[in-house]
Amino acid sequence: MSHRPRIVLVHQRDYMPWVFEGAARAGFDLVLLPWKALDLDPADLPDPVVSCLFLDTEADMAGAVRALEDLHAREGFEGIMACSELAVPLVARVARSLGLVGLDEETALVVRDKSLMRERLRDAGLPVPGFVALGAPEEWQRARGLRTPLVVKPATGYSSFGVVRVDDADDLEATVHQVWKLSGGELGYGGDGHTVIVEEYLDGPEISVESLVHQGEVRVCAINYKGEMPGPYFEEVRFRSPAPLPPDVLADVERQVVAAHAAFGVTTGATHTELRLCRGTGPFVLEMGARIGGGGFLHHLVQASSGIDFAAEALRICAGRRPLCWDEPPAVVGHAAAYLVPVGAGGRIERFHGLDGLDGNPEVDRVLQLMCPGQEVRPYPAPLTAHPVLVMSRHDSDARAAAFHDELARSVWIEYQRQ
Ligand code: ADP
Ligand code: CA
Ligand code: CA
Ligand code: CA
Ligand code: CA
Repeated sequence: MSHRPRIVLVHQRDYMPWVFEGAARAGFDLVLLPWKALDLDPADLPDPVVSCLFLDTEADMAGAVRALEDLHAREGFEGIMACSELAVPLVARVARSLGLVGLDEETALVVRDKSLMRERLRDAGLPVPGFVALGAPEEWQRARGLRTPLVVKPATGYSSFGVVRVDDADDLEATVHQVWKLSGGELGYGGDGHTVIVEEYLDGPEISVESLVHQGEVRVCAINYKGEMPGPYFEEVRFRSPAPLPPDVLADVERQVVAAHAAFGVTTGATHTELRLCRGTGPFVLEMGARIGGGGFLHHLVQASSGIDFAAEALRICAGRRPLCWDEPPAVVGHAAAYLVPVGAGGRIERFHGLDGLDGNPEVDRVLQLMCPGQEVRPYPAPLTAHPVLVMSRHDSDARAAAFHDELARSVWIEYQRQ
């Protein structure tokens, strides 16, 4: 039997195809630890998944570590990759225990905690907004010295769930309680160490930066423009790459992103860093995810803008190999875009408008519909189970990408059932 090198993916959602496709291109077999067993039909595993391990990594991390050590002893694997925020510490622990490429465990905890990231950035001399970390909602008054508007968010959240802007200091107490409740309740961050952050609002367009890190060396692969996201909730809708920004701003962003990796101790793997560009003061790092962002779709933005096979390279790195792009100079090969159809008011889905024929549009690379009529969607800041529809595209220019998104904003929408 031919044995292809094997990588364990922890919490990759099976309906997000990019990492699976990258593994197939790079010639890896995969073992999948699904995010939630419910999501997965074991009879219909995506290629090149050869087996699945159903483990409750949240309820029993030590048990999951042991099961992975046993798997390694029995069948072997070359690497292990975190595909969700929650998987990052587990994957670091397993990599260390098995001598595989991975983050050190302290770094894994830093990149899971927004207040630790803030402290590291500040200590490294990078700009940070004023912030306080609250260990209980009754401590909200400690944030009264901060300048409004403010943002209140869970310390260990992701996907902007439970993140709320506050304009009026009189609303701070109620919002801190609201976020605390969401964060400790259905987001599941309650218990020891439950923390909510309050920080000053950074006014300016948002970008995300997708990087690869190999043996401590950071390669910025794509800078994506997300545009103005004023809140009060921060649903991500539009991404365009390369970001239409002046070269000196891009250079400044790249410098800060490289410095943030050093500040956090991120020496290997793929990363997703988010920043805001404040007028006059330039980029501020919001946070970093030590994983491929967006459940994998950010691969499309990297690949279609730079030609770098981001998902395949991330897998090569975690298998201890040198990424192929390390020997290639940076290039711009096209304009890539992603549009996540906004949830809006939420409710029970009646139908989707504007999707017919979209897939046949020559600019459209892929339309991924992840929810169906009849399903219930709650509006932000509540957590989503999945983005209802994603549209990945390629364009001749950034202006054309922006115009295409404006067209989608007019034509594609979710109709909800009437109450
Ligand atoms: P998460 O891990 O939930 O994605 P983030 O810290 O990235 O948490 O916050 C989610 C979004 O909220 C950001 O992408 C940004 O749009 C907005 N946001 C968070 N903090 C700030 C801030 N200090 N200033 C402006 N916007 C913010
Ligand atoms: Ca995050
Ligand atoms: Ca984020
Ligand atoms: Ca995000
Ligand atoms: Ca097409």
